[in-house]
Parts: sequence; C-alpha cells; structure tokens
Amino acid sequence: MISRLFKSSGFISPRISLSKNLTSRFLSRNFENRASLSSLVFIEHKDKKIDNATLSTITAAKQLGGEVSAIVAGSDASEVATAVSKLNGVDKVYVANNAVFDNNHAEAISPLLLAVQKQINSTHVLASHSSVGKRVIPRLAAKLDVQQISDITGIQNESTFTRPIYAGNANETVESTDSIKLITVRNTAFTPAENKDSASSIEDVNSPDVQVKSKWIKEEVSKGDRPDLSSAKIVVSGGRAVKSAEGFKLIQDLADKLGAGVGASRAAVDAGYCDNSLQVGQTGKIIAPELYIAVGISGAIQHLAGMKDSKVIVSINKDPDAPIFQISDYSLVGDLFQILPELTQKA
Ligand SMILES: Cc1cc2nc3c(=O)[nH]c(=O)nc-3n(C[C@H](O)[C@H](O)[C@H](O)COP(=O)(O)OP(=O)(O)OC[C@H]3O[C@@H](n4cnc5c(N)ncnc54)[C@H](O)[C@@H]3O)c2cc1C
Repeated sequence: MISRLFKSSGFISPRISLSKNLTSRFLSRNFENRASLSSLVFIEHKDKKIDNATLSTITAAKQLGGEVSAIVAGSDASEVATAVSKLNGVDKVYVANNAVFDNNHAEAISPLLLAVQKQINSTHVLASHSSVGKRVIPRLAAKLDVQQISDITGIQNESTFTRPIYAGNANETVESTDSIKLITVRNTAFTPAENKDSASSIEDVNSPDVQVKSKWIKEEVSKGDRPDLSSAKIVVSGGRAVKSAEGFKLIQDLADKLGAGVGASRAAVDAGYCDNSLQVGQTGKIIAPELYIAVGISGAIQHLAGMKDSKVIVSINKDPDAPIFQISDYSLVGDLFQILPELTQKA
C-alpha cells in the first residue's frame, strides 16, 4: 500500500522537510531494517550492451543500501553478466541463460524475477522506467499483490520515495508499507553506475517454466548518423515555429555542426516537420543532456517534463515572455530564421 505524505506544487519543487516525528520514525525503521534490506535489479541489455537507463537503476539500488543483486536474462546473458559484475554497486549477479528471455517478453521476464526474488528474498525489485520496466513490474506487482512505485526520482529511505506527478509540475513523496517494494526508476534522476576495479560473483539460476503467448516478429529501428536523442550530450530541439520540414533542416544543420542529437516539440511532430521518435516531453522522450537548445519552443509544461533536468538550457524565441525562458540558463530573444544560420556558421 502506498500513502502519499505530501505533495508540493510549483515546477521546481521547494525543499520540504519531514516533520521531526516523521523523520525519526523513518530513520528508526530504516535503521532496524537495514540489515535485511536487499535489492534485485533487472538488467536490460541489447546486442550484448547494458542499457544506459539500467546503469542509473543500479545507482538507485545502491542508494537504498543493503546488498544489490542483478539478474541478467537471455541467450547473451553470460557475456552481459561479466560486464554487470564489474559495475560499481553490484554485489552479486544472477544469470538465466535462456533464449526464452530474449526480446524482453514480459510474460517470460516477470516469472523469472518472481522466482529470483523468492529465492534470494529481496525486499526491493528495481527496473528502469522504460517500456520494458513498465511492462514487467506491473505483472510482478500483481503476482506479489503489492503496489508498484513508478518513476521514482529520489529516495528518502527504504520505504519513501519522490516521484513527479502532473507532467512534472509537482513532486510527491510516497511511503510504501508493502513488505516488498517494486520500483521503476527515472534514469535522468540518477547518475549511471561506473566500473569498479574488482568483479562480483556470478551465479546461474534455473529458468522457471514460462508460457509466452506472444511471438517476436521483427524490430524496425530508424538509424541515422546523429547521436541517439536519449543518450546525446547535446540536443538541439525545434518547435512549431520552424514552420515546415524545410525549416526543421535548420535545427538539423546546427545539430550536425555541434555533433548533437535532434529533438522536437509535439507541435513540430504533429505538423509533420520531423519523425515522432524525436518528440521530447511527457508523451515523448525524457532526457537530461549536458546542453539542451530549444528553438522556437514556447515551454509548455508537457514539453518541459521531458527536458527540464538538462544541465544547461539555451532557448531561442522571438517572444521575450515565452515561458521557456523561465527555466533557461541562456535566453536569446530573436527570430530563429536569422539566429540559427548565424549560429551554425559560427559553431
Ligand atoms: C496530454 C498531452 C501531452 C503532451 N505531450 C507533449 C510532449 O510530450 N511534448 C511536447 O513538446 N508537447 C506535448 N504536448 C503539447 C504541448 O502542450 C504544447 O502544445 C507543445 O509543446 C507546443 O509546442 P511548441 O512549443 O513547438 O509550439 P508553440 O506553443 O506554438 O510555441 C511556438 C513558440 O515559437 C515562438 N516563435 C514563433 N516564431 C518564431 C521565430 N520565427 N523565431 C523564434 N521563435 C518563434 C513563439 O513565440 C512560441 O513561443 C502535450 C499536450 C497534451 C495535452
């Protein structure tokens, strides 16, 4: 069961302290349970490479305290497990080397997580808040009859978590009284785990009997030379103001000059100026690059939900009162059709 302790309004939430009683209650509970706390992290991987969001999930698990175990599944699992065992924060790696777990079918992964959770008695199971995590964790929650805690951005203690609500317009702090906590983690809120000098132990687990009723047919991934939007260090995003697919080329030109990924507002996507895989925001990708350049984007709350955690935000808008300027580190007031070619030339 989850109880909401309080919620704060305002885009950048004010710091709120727990009352003294509440704090000591949490701290003592935290302290009492510390010895038995143990986490299990589901490792997403593709082409033998650990998914970036999973690296952040490991950091979140480490922050909880206690032993952190990782489970790697699929026909490539053994190779990936070796890489996982060298990650800071991982104490033990479990491997289910079985092709039935390829392509992350939730019908297969959930029973596996359930079996390993029961075997090692983990108090917390974590996955990234990706499309895979969002499919796997609810099934596990139903099996264990607990309520999942979604999209956490902060950990106050082993039972209390922060998560954004209302498209990131408010942060709520929730306490779970369930004995097992099932958590999905927002990757932009935690730094990715890095390699350590040593390697943790790896152990095989038996695959449970799983019934996969759906069949994997194929995957079509749009490929380009630009850095992937989700992991690019610099992102240049265009909004409705670019006016056309031709106008959107100005965004791509600057991005290419900076070696950046390309993003877009939903208005630009809906108008057909670019592919919908580029959409940043509540219903698009949630990113936090080192530098985000928003061009001709007003700063609607649904767009900000996808980029507000960027380290440095630069905005170009002809309206000096555009809401995006309120969260920008650098604001350029002017016409994008004049500014962009100049910037691209000088970059
Ligand atoms: C449920 C829901 C989910 C949504 N999810 C998303 C989402 O994931 N991502 C998202 O982006 N939106 C999302 N939206 C839409 C969102 O509310 C806004 O409509 C959208 O973000 C607006 O896009 P925009 O800023 O490009 O366009 P506008 O709001 O029209 O802003 C265009 C801006 O360009 C400026 N401009 C105009 N001409 C120029 C020029 N020549 N030079 C410089 N500046 C200029 C204008 O001053 C203005 O600020 C969602 C909405 C809903 C209801």
